[in-house]
Amino acid sequence: MRPEILFPLFAPATSLKGVGPRVAPLVEKLAGPIVRDVAFLKPHSLIRRTPTTVADAVEGEVQTFELTIESYAKPRGPNQPWRVRCFDTTGFISLVFFGSFGASLELRHPKGARRIVSGKVERFRDELQISHPDYIVEPDKADTIPELEPVYPATAGLPPRTVRRLALEAASRAPALPEWQDPAWLRQENFPSWQAALARLHTPQSEADLLPQARHQRRLAYDELLAHQLAMAQRKAARRSHPASKIAAGDIAPRIEADLPFALTGAQQRSLVEIRADLAAGERMSRLLQGDVGSGKTVVAMLAMADIAAAGGQTALMAPTEILARQHFETLAEPLRAHGVEVVLLTGRDRGAPRAEKLAALASGGAKVAVGTHALFQDEVVFQRLMMAVIDEQHRFGVAERQRLQAKGEAVHLLAMSATPIPRTLELTVYGDLDVSRIDEKPPGRTPVATRASPMTRVHEIEARLEAAVKGGAQAFWICPLVSESELVDLKAAEVRATELRARIGPSVGLVHGKMPPAEKDAVMADFADGKLSVLVATTVVEVGVNVPNATIMVIEQAERFGLAQLHQLRGRVGRGRRESACVLLYDPPLSETAQKRLDILRRTDDGFLIAETDLELRGGGDALGLRQSGFPDYRFADPFAHRDLIAAAGDDARLIVARDPQLTSERGKALRVLQELFDWRPASPLKDAG
Ligand code: ADP
Ligand code: MG
Repeated sequence: MRPEILFPLFAPATSLKGVGPRVAPLVEKLAGPIVRDVAFLKPHSLIRRTPTTVADAVEGEVQTFELTIESYAKPRGPNQPWRVRCFDTTGFISLVFFGSFGASLELRHPKGARRIVSGKVERFRDELQISHPDYIVEPDKADTIPELEPVYPATAGLPPRTVRRLALEAASRAPALPEWQDPAWLRQENFPSWQAALARLHTPQSEADLLPQARHQRRLAYDELLAHQLAMAQRKAARRSHPASKIAAGDIAPRIEADLPFALTGAQQRSLVEIRADLAAGERMSRLLQGDVGSGKTVVAMLAMADIAAAGGQTALMAPTEILARQHFETLAEPLRAHGVEVVLLTGRDRGAPRAEKLAALASGGAKVAVGTHALFQDEVVFQRLMMAVIDEQHRFGVAERQRLQAKGEAVHLLAMSATPIPRTLELTVYGDLDVSRIDEKPPGRTPVATRASPMTRVHEIEARLEAAVKGGAQAFWICPLVSESELVDLKAAEVRATELRARIGPSVGLVHGKMPPAEKDAVMADFADGKLSVLVATTVVEVGVNVPNATIMVIEQAERFGLAQLHQLRGRVGRGRRESACVLLYDPPLSETAQKRLDILRRTDDGFLIAETDLELRGGGDALGLRQSGFPDYRFADPFAHRDLIAAAGDDARLIVARDPQLTSERGKALRVLQELFDWRPASPLKDAG
């Protein structure tokens, strides 16, 4: 239940003055439906109103004048403004008003009256003017014009000034709340109270107050991070309290491991040890296995499946696409079957008797492993004893989908796999409710992909080299991203590229794009995987993780538009065998300095974690979109880069709180409940509510 003290903040935004039926939808779009959302709007800049004279006026600046009104000039034609000519002791300046409010203006500001006028100074022909001044007040009300004015984000129909007024009113409804921060931490950081921090947010005293490093900004960010971390720590604790069967390492996995034509890398071994410790703990596992494409995650999952099978249980491995499911099946089936572990592949394509047979094998426990797509969590799929769910490319699945799969057994262990490396500093915010294993070491013997950046002007040279390579038997991806405003234009560009390449290389150039029906897309992908196509032109990031060992060339157009993590993943599609591979990053010159640095890091390293970390630093947290793509929550105050020290501190704090006061019954605990309600934390983590 929401504490009464928060009621004013949770009142509908329509309770704010001036928010009627017309404005309400705009406010909701900009901020949200309740007063709190408006109070949490952040100013992005500051207007400084300098008092000056007409002689010293600076064009383009917001300035304040003391003027006498001389005359009113009617609009000279339709769409022309009223012009109000004014002067001070140093010269003339006009106030300009579009729309027909000359008469009412003159009533309020008659000729001869003195007024304090503030607004942005412009020059029109030879005259100085202020069009639609921000303020026109009588001299004795000069102090109603703020010298420093925060500027808020606006939206059509809701100008920044109105937003500012609403934000101030909303913030004024914020009550003093019980302190939820640890007193020692509060002193150490020299944080103001929550109420004072919020007030300062809306009354910045200088540009420095707008920066994420300002004390009140850090306080608000820390509150938000703590609310989130606490929610995740609580979820983790709740999950742990559900007992699950203890699974000991069995005798099948070692035999499979002995059969492998390679030894596990150190990172794979470490991950396997961590998974086994979870399985043996008697609590439900929720672990994320993070590692680049090709780092060997599937092999690790397979050995865990063998342990489950040895304990008499079943595993379901779910992949986002049919082609990926098929590839997993091909990897797993033989090694597992060789040691008596039956594996079935279940996709949307299965029909009739073969499908019935597979379902029967799962229901009877004859099959210990099911590999498949979404087809796995349909109602007809019944397991004899499902003990573990493995989710590949977990961010491609919704929470509900994952839960439906886990609901097919009791206390089903979860192993999620992701090829999107998250910087370590952000791991807590994205995966705070999971345990994370990182495979940060590649299997030996891989030749790094020779990577170079090349301006688009040299595309024909690249095409010619591609032609030669294809004649020599190579296969290549050519990515034309969907980046412009119009998807149709992008699609056209990809079609033109495919046509151009076909003219050179012949009919073995295929095209896939996001608008194709899935079956058709799968068919083209399969042809490429089978070597029937030599070049695959694609508009979208082709299914992450797809394995085409013979593909050795990756060309990416408009590489500067991609996030580094995405580029790295695309590049990961090649260089999977021992053969030399190449990646060409085509860009539209000129490159900005940052873009240059970003492409450079790709040339220098192949370590996904290092690339993710550098990416974060280079964007300085500025590019929220790229982060959101990797599952970073949509925080209001916390900045992933500027506040990264606070992320770690909030994580520690949350763990301690849950350990000492799991029910939040202490004084601080009660205050923390208010904090959680205040932020209403619904984690945007792709694995929210895991388990
Ligand atoms: P991921 O699932 O992380 O993309 P996979 O488990 O599919 O990676 O492994 C990619 C390829 O590398 C597979 O062909 C696999 O057999 C091989 N591989 C995995 N681990 C090793 C290792 N330790 N040494 C050599 N090759 C390995
Ligand atoms: Mg994989």
